[in-house]
Formats: sequence, C-alpha cells, structure tokens
Amino acid sequence: MFEYAPAPESRDIVDIKPAYGLFIDGAFTDANNHFKTVNPASEEVLAEISEADSADVDRAVAAARKAYENVWSKLPAAERAKYLFRIARIIQERSRELAVLESIDNGKPIRESRDVDLPLVAAHFFYYAGWADKLEYAVADPRPLGVAGQVIPWNFPLLMLAWKIAPALACGNTVVLKPAETTPLTALAFAEICRQADLPPGVVNIVTGAGETGRALVEHPGIDKVAFTGSTEVGRQIARAVAGTGKRLTLELGGKAANIVFDDAPLDQAVEGIVNGIFFNQGHVCCAGSRLLVQESVAEELLDRLKTRMATLRVGDPLDKNTDVGAINSAAQLAKIRELSQAGDNEGAVRWSPPCELPDRGFWFAPTVFTGVAQSHRIAREEIFGPVLSVLTFRTPQEAVEKANNTPYGLSAGVWTEKGSRILWMAQRLRAGVVWANTFNKFDPASPFGGYKESGFGREGGRHGLEAYLR
Ligand code: NAP
Ligand code: MG
Repeated sequence: MFEYAPAPESRDIVDIKPAYGLFIDGAFTDANNHFKTVNPASEEVLAEISEADSADVDRAVAAARKAYENVWSKLPAAERAKYLFRIARIIQERSRELAVLESIDNGKPIRESRDVDLPLVAAHFFYYAGWADKLEYAVADPRPLGVAGQVIPWNFPLLMLAWKIAPALACGNTVVLKPAETTPLTALAFAEICRQADLPPGVVNIVTGAGETGRALVEHPGIDKVAFTGSTEVGRQIARAVAGTGKRLTLELGGKAANIVFDDAPLDQAVEGIVNGIFFNQGHVCCAGSRLLVQESVAEELLDRLKTRMATLRVGDPLDKNTDVGAINSAAQLAKIRELSQAGDNEGAVRWSPPCELPDRGFWFAPTVFTGVAQSHRIAREEIFGPVLSVLTFRTPQEAVEKANNTPYGLSAGVWTEKGSRILWMAQRLRAGVVWANTFNKFDPASPFGGYKESGFGREGGRHGLEAYLR
C-alpha cells in the first residue's frame, strides 16, 4: 500500500455566509423558520438556511408567473439563449468555487465535483442555450408551459438543478426550484449567478426547505408543470397529488441497475467499470451499478481482481484530491445503508470490505461487496443508495437478461463483452432507460436519460428533454 501526502483543495475560495434567505423575484428574503446545513465529512454547521412555508411558496410562484407573462415568454428566443450562455460561462468561471462548495455541503470527493459535476453543469447550460432559438426543429409549434415547480435530491445538487432549470428556461418557462434540505448551498450560489447574469427577476426562484416545502410547491395550483427527481416513494405521492390537475409531470426516481460481465470481457477494464459504477459518488447514484451479474466461469477471477482494486480506494476527506470515496451525505442515509447491509448479513450473504480507516467525525461507510446474494435478498431488490455492491452469477445470456430485468426498477444497465452483436442483443432485451456498453456512468447533455417502470417517466437531456417543457 502506498502512503500519500494529503493534497487538500483550499476552501478559501468559497465564502459561506452565516445565513441565507430565499431567492424570490430576484432578491434574497428571510423566512420565519430556519434549518442548518452541515458538512457531512465533519458534522460542522455550515450555515442557517431559510425554510420556505406555503406563503413563501405562494410568493415565489406569483413571482415566476409575473416574470413568465411580462418578460420571459415575450423575449425573442435568441435573447433567452444569451442569458443561458451567460449563465453557462459564469458557471465555468466560478467552477472551482462551486466544486469546493458542492464537496463541502454534500461530502462528494473534490475530484468528482471538479471533474464530473461542474463540467456537466456548464455543458448542460451550453447545450440548452443552443436549443433556445431552434425549438421548431425539435417539435412543431413549440410553446412553453408556463411556471415549472421543480424538486431535486441531494446526490448531485447542482447537476440536478442544471438538468431541471436549463431546458425549462430554454423553452421559455419560468421556475420555482426546491433543493434538498441537506444540500442547499450550491443552489443558493446559483441564485447569485442569476443576479450576476442579470437574469430578469422571477425567472428563477429558489425556495429552500425540506419535504413540506416540496409538497407545498408541487401541490400549488399556480404551477403548470412538476419535475421531480428523488425516491420512488415520494414520486408516487406526487403522482397522486398531481393526478387530475392538468399539470404536466416528469418523474426521475430510483434504480437498481445490473452491471453484466460476460466471460469474454476484458476483466481489468470491467473491474474499473464496476468500481466506477458503484463507488462513484459513494454509490449515491440513481443509476448506480449496484447489482453485479457475472458469468459463472469468470466470477472467481473477477472478484479477486475487484477486491484487489477495492483495497486501493481511498476513503476520507472529500476536499483531498487523492480521495476516491467521500462522506455519506447524512446520518439518515448512513442509517439506511447500515440497515440494508445488516439485512444482507441476516439473509446469509457474505460481506467483504477492504481494511480502511474511517475518520472519527462525520458519516462514513467503507466500500462493501456482498457475495452469495440470491435474487430474493433485500440487498438484491432494494435500492441501497450507498457504496454497497451485490454480486450474483449467471450462466447464459438469457439468464443474465432475466436476472437483470427481475426488478421493479428500470433506469440503467451495463454490459461488458467483446462481442458487438451480444451488446445489441442484450440492449434490445434489457428494460432500462440507458444501457452502457463496456463503460458505465457516462453522461452527456445531448443524451436522454430516464427510466422505465418504478424508475419513473419522462426524459431529461437531449432533444427529448425539451418535450417535457413544451406544449
Ligand atoms: P426524496 O426523499 O424523494 O427527496 C427528493 C426531494 O423531494 C427532496 O428535495 C425532498 O426534500 C423532497 N420531498 C420529500 N418529500 C416530499 C413531498 N412529499 N413532496 C414533495 N417533495 C418532497 O429522495 P432522497 O432520499 O432525497 O434522494 C434519494 C432518491 O432519489 C433515491 O431513491 C434515488 O434513486 C433517487 N434519485 C433519482 C434520480 C434520477 O434521475 N432518476 C437522480 C437522483 C436521485 P428533503 O429531502 O429536502 O426533505
Ligand atoms: Mg449539507
């Protein structure tokens, strides 16, 4: 094992204020109630955040409506595009600061926030800026919906904001967005960026808070569209609340992706893909490759190589540039991961983690692999949303497809094989919105993303992503 000197990114570049207001109609305003956001790697309190109640949500929706009717829907599309290009450029200019802020509030390694989240956030705004004055090439007679209410989770705070806001604005809608309770800071930094870009007041409104704020927003009669990313459970509640209201709805929910390795796959490359599939972002990824399906004849060798590779993963300080696996986002999420892993032990699966020292303070979970997993085990069926991999084996491609599809979810899948014909054969049979071949967790703003079955409906990204925001 190598010893590395710590190489922490400086946090001086971010200026976290002691308290933040709600961003409504272009200005920050205080709320009656407040909550704290903490750094999950240290449990340090970072800031006091305003909690929007239903009166605040009312004001935000009214501001968005006024901005939609008086300004945003009247602007020539090319002018809307200029604002989006400006926002994209400011994000690039401030990307180091935003990456550090994201890692502090969320716990993800700086290597990921800097090299994955932030470049994708900027790319998303550039991509949809380009569409703003070309919408008639996407759909006939494109017309915006009006005001969009958007609710996002904590795993990719700024990236999920970009996925929601960029296409909505490009299509001529205005938005009220609620970030997750545990990760509000980059959304509030984005609010400052909207001011820096001179975006007209009310086009983007940010209402911080917890589930109740989200509920007040999605149930508000003044919005025309609900876009939600989060758990299947809350997605169901929202679908019920929205039914019959005439509001348009898109849901991006959970997943339990199969990462399928055939015996002809280049094994070292597959190991990298498995590691990226489940340990990227601590496994807090809806499309994480949380079920490894490996062909029986190579299972032993693959697992040996996987364990050797896992032993090199560096767990710890998210701001250290050497870190591969950062902190679990919250105490609640850590409890959920522990509970499900315990269920794996109880049901007879075999747990393995590399030796690794975890920091004393903060929320941590060592990279973990379970072997001897049966299809009926909870760790094979339920989303763990943490750095925990369940391994199952198969003999034939048919069996791989059956096992992969034996889940209520259908968001993503990975296939590792040398044969192009087998990749196509598998892709046609896997019930998943995205199928990666000989790679995993690859994202591009031009490529649509979304699920089947309990993973939700609607697509984000690409030309398909525009349809969710047009009449
Ligand atoms: P969650 O509990 O569903 O929360 C998602 C968001 O909804 C948060 O902002 C949350 O507020 C808010 N919320 C909670 N209850 C609500 C309600 N009744 N009405 C309206 N909004 C409400 O999910 P999570 O635990 O934060 O996130 C993890 C889940 O998200 C996983 O299951 C994962 O698979 C899924 N996810 C899916 C995708 C995708 O693209 N398909 C992407 C990322 C994550 P607070 O949390 O602030 O209280
Ligand atoms: Mg936080």
